[in-house]
Amino acid sequence: MKEYADLLLPNIDKTIEDYKKIYPDRNLKDGAIVTRYAPSPTGYVHMGALFSAFIASKMAKQTSGVFFLRIEDTDKKREIENGVSGIIKDLKNYGIKIDEGMTSETEWIGEYGPYIQSKRKEIYQTFAKHLIMNDLAYPCFCTEEDLENIRKEQESIKDRIGYYGKWARDRYLSHEEVINKINNGEKYVIRLKSPGKFENKVIYDDLVKGKLELPENDLDIVIIKGDGLPTYHFAHLVDDYLMGTTHVIRGDEWLSSVPIHLQLFKVFGFKPPKYAHISPLLKEDNGTRRKLSKRKDPEAAISYYHEKGIPTQAVLLYLCTVANSNFEMWYLQNKDKTIDDFKLEFKKISSSGSLFDVDKLLNISKNYISLLSATDVYNNTLEYSKNYDNELFDLLTKYKDYSINVMNIEREQKKPRKDLAMFSDFRKQNWYMYDELFNNLNYEWQNITDKNEIKEILNLYISKYDANDDKDTWFNKMKEVCDALGYASDMKAYKENPDNYKGNIADVSNVLRVSLTTKSMTPDLYEIMKLLGKERMEKRFNMV
Ligand code: GLU
Repeated sequence: MKEYADLLLPNIDKTIEDYKKIYPDRNLKDGAIVTRYAPSPTGYVHMGALFSAFIASKMAKQTSGVFFLRIEDTDKKREIENGVSGIIKDLKNYGIKIDEGMTSETEWIGEYGPYIQSKRKEIYQTFAKHLIMNDLAYPCFCTEEDLENIRKEQESIKDRIGYYGKWARDRYLSHEEVINKINNGEKYVIRLKSPGKFENKVIYDDLVKGKLELPENDLDIVIIKGDGLPTYHFAHLVDDYLMGTTHVIRGDEWLSSVPIHLQLFKVFGFKPPKYAHISPLLKEDNGTRRKLSKRKDPEAAISYYHEKGIPTQAVLLYLCTVANSNFEMWYLQNKDKTIDDFKLEFKKISSSGSLFDVDKLLNISKNYISLLSATDVYNNTLEYSKNYDNELFDLLTKYKDYSINVMNIEREQKKPRKDLAMFSDFRKQNWYMYDELFNNLNYEWQNITDKNEIKEILNLYISKYDANDDKDTWFNKMKEVCDALGYASDMKAYKENPDNYKGNIADVSNVLRVSLTTKSMTPDLYEIMKLLGKERMEKRFNMV
């Protein structure tokens, strides 16, 4: 048998025991979860994948376990240049820290590497060789055409499609026949000699989906492809065994592969990991729910959040809410705590799919940003504008302290203003605080629209304005303007006899507000005036 196996995989001289010595069992405390995020190097992480990676990293962290990043690049056709770096960057941006795994295109940290499958070819082949020696795997010389013919025949007699049982043509080749074919230079893959029966059931307990009963695998799946690299299924077995993975947390598109995976662990006599299959994120679309789609929904790409300046922390808070809906209430009651203090539970993850609602995410983001200090908002907006808004970046750099003060209006107080859902909102809400942006004006006048009347109010007001006034004095001066020009300074008096007045104090303050900002609704006018200063106010009054 050894000779035969050597002929099929000639360069392999290690055994699986040798590898087990290199990668010993991990020494972790009871209940520690060792899990991973195992993407193909396609260059970016989409929201569904980020959701699974977030759950995996959180589970590892809260059990003092290990979370690692393994790159699954055995499908060379799907690969893109620098695909690993993009994934690393995305995880980093979202504060998802890895304990082990790839840190760049070619480097990794951790004792269980390489953490990139293309560098593990010999390891997989060693495991395949072990199966060959135990008569649990064999070479298959079928060409595409041969396989197509088998399929056609199965179709014609309405049999189940696949390479199994009597249909598994090369399962029955003798060693002599194999040797001849190899000597003839025929190409081959290596297949598992599946010990399963389709009529049998595999019962297993998924941590998210619950108890499942699936037909046993009887397909002689390919384990080593023609290029010598493993298939996904086989690499999963080898890697998760040697890397000591206790929990496989992944998208539920892999659910139907579980019988294959459990069978692979069984033929080697290894203890399988626990599986948690995460349902896709859903989107409400015209009253029905469908999968969040990479093609149709911009919010499915995590670059979307970067481009809008939506804080990554807010995205994570939302993902935590999506994962365990009790998180929202917990967070509300534990304002001083963070996600790290919350205990995420598998059984509270929806088994049928969770709704991903951007509006809700933005609401969470609004709350989150409202609790940041002005300096934090400044730094984040600066970072955002550096990438996406040069003009704003220059202004924020030039007027740093001033900008922090603008951001501090109605902030850092008990009930802070919730005006920013994303850092890109800052410009939309505050452009008028910068003279450089104060152009193309569209004044939102309300009750008072007559230019002469407006001018009269502004002239009288500026003659009284003093930036050193406290808020009460400031307000009294506005009242003085009202009294002098025939507007009610007292709302109650106005309501009793509206005909006695030209209007009321709200109309007057509106004229001041609109002249300075063009907007009929702004944050605190007293603060705005203070920041603009008398000279700039005067200039703006003259522009009206
Ligand atoms: N490479 C697989 C994927 O791209 C990973 C599946 C798993 O986590 O086992 O989805």
